[in-house]
Amino acid sequence: QVHGQGGVKFQNWAKTYGSSPELYFQPTSVEEIREILDMARQRDKRVKVVGGGHSPSDIACTDDFMIQMGKMNRVLKVDKEKQQVTVEGGIFLSDLNVELSKHGLALANLGAVSEVAAAGVIGTGTHNTGIKHGILPTQVVALTLLTASGEILECSESVNADIFQAARLHLGCLGVVLTVTFQCVPQFHLHEVAFPSTLTEVLDHLDDHLQRSQYFRFLWFPHSENVSVIYQDPTNKPPSSSASWWWDYAVGYYLLEFLLWISTFVPSLVCWINRFFFWLLFSSRVENIAISYKIFNYECRFKQHVQDWAIPIEKTKEALLELKAALENNPKMVAHYPVEVRFARGDEIWLSPCFQRDSCYMNIIMYRPYGKNVPRLNYWLTYEGIMKKHGGRPHWAKAHSCTRKDFEKMYPAFPKFCSVREKLDPTGMFLNTYLEKVFY
Ligand SMILES: Cc1cc2nc3c(=O)[nH]c(=O)nc-3n(C[C@H](O)[C@H](O)[C@H](O)COP(=O)(O)OP(=O)(O)OC[C@H]3O[C@@H](n4cnc5c(N)ncnc54)[C@H](O)[C@@H]3O)c2cc1C
Repeated sequence: QVHGQGGVKFQNWAKTYGSSPELYFQPTSVEEIREILDMARQRDKRVKVVGGGHSPSDIACTDDFMIQMGKMNRVLKVDKEKQQVTVEGGIFLSDLNVELSKHGLALANLGAVSEVAAAGVIGTGTHNTGIKHGILPTQVVALTLLTASGEILECSESVNADIFQAARLHLGCLGVVLTVTFQCVPQFHLHEVAFPSTLTEVLDHLDDHLQRSQYFRFLWFPHSENVSVIYQDPTNKPPSSSASWWWDYAVGYYLLEFLLWISTFVPSLVCWINRFFFWLLFSSRVENIAISYKIFNYECRFKQHVQDWAIPIEKTKEALLELKAALENNPKMVAHYPVEVRFARGDEIWLSPCFQRDSCYMNIIMYRPYGKNVPRLNYWLTYEGIMKKHGGRPHWAKAHSCTRKDFEKMYPAFPKFCSVREKLDPTGMFLNTYLEKVFY
């Protein structure tokens, strides 16, 4: 009975990857999803489940059957005593944040955007910052999975424990994530303070910064020594904001996009743009106070290409200085600002880039001013080389050039994940081109 639409074009948020699914489904129940899987099995089709479609890679693409989970977005249970919430996999975190706050609860950490689905963020290992905080999948205490055979599996530390360790960061290849249970914390407000510094100062006092602020991160402006340090910490002070349309939009968006577009004809301007905008927008102290999710989230206005690898935290200084030196030695290689540097606690999730080590994530970007791609190959390869040299592991949502051979070296538990995947999906129903590179 379930109806699939033909002719739908899927594009990710940044419009950098897309595909043309033969049939596009928006199921409203588990029975409908089962029907879709039956149909896929009969017609020998693959299936890709998507949430918010935000991943900056082809991880969510398929030309076979696509299941968009937006209509399976209910909050199923709030357990106030345990401070846990159980939701359907398709719920956007933006809706969950609001629902949780009605119950005096919140997620302890969030990424930069919330127009992403609960099952989607855990699928790729979304992270934020804070050395006492793990990546978002560490907040998951249970989930249910509908497998390729149509079986529903409940998973947690105590039930199907192996599948749970795999499914907390599932890559979309183990089945359809129907529900997720998150461990929450009492609702809280955050005080954000951003202030200017230098790369030398931050790298020389990294431990101090990490201790001083619970959610510490910094932005480095390539082709310069400039850094914007950002501290975010729980507070009881009343909300206040220093947002300004003029500086945030007129200057920080419209003027910047225009100048970045001009720089596509004169690449050497990028160096000047990075310094000029640091001086304009980041050279004085700025403070904001709001409910936690409004501070964790910020508006990512520019469509962009992005890479984000996690390296062992003790390699932060060496790796960043190598990237800086590489840019200085290759004047033709340009890098847009910022390089965003964040931190996460080590964990035990098999495919987590932070598996068994505290990590530093180093996020590089190249904007697409007015949709125009800017050459980035040299920068991308140089960055990947440095990350690999320091034992890096790429963010699963973001484009990278790694294949199975690399992942076997990077992840001690990779064989365990593969054997769970092969058991749950022996015919590869949930694979796509991206995942073939990971597993073959
Ligand atoms: C503007 C922007 C800001 C971002 N900020 C951050 C950030 O701060 N930190 C960070 O780490 N990342 C960040 N990202 C990346 C983003 O968090 C991840 O790409 C995340 O996976 C997106 O969630 P989604 O719901 O859009 O997932 P999608 O891109 O739709 O899917 C991701 C994966 O999950 C699978 N999946 C989704 N739902 C299900 C389901 N129900 N069952 C089975 N599989 C499923 C898909 O098959 C796919 O493999 C950002 C991306 C953008 C565009």
